Amino acid sequence: MIIVSMKIIKQICRLQDIRMNVEIKIVCPFCGQRQMIIEVNRNRCWCIKCKKEKHLDEIFRLVEREYNYKHQDTLNIMNNTTGVCG
Ligand SMILES: [Zn+2]
Repeated sequence: MIIVSMKIIKQICRLQDIRMNVEIKIVCPFCGQRQMIIEVNRNRCWCIKCKKEKHLDEIFRLVEREYNYKHQDTLNIMNNTTGVCG
């Protein structure tokens, strides 16, 4: 739903010749501060605090890896449990 909305927003901006400038602040995977800005229209992320700048895909991989590491025990239980019927 969000992706569809973003497409519509992009089209509105294009039709009105307005430069879209959507920014979302996330936790930076390098310094751990919520100071990393995702520039949606550029697919770039940059941190106000530590000045790292990366492509959105790279940040996604880092955040996903960090999430999986933090939830390793839960993921192992889920993957190794055959369930009630297994
Ligand atoms: Zn940072």
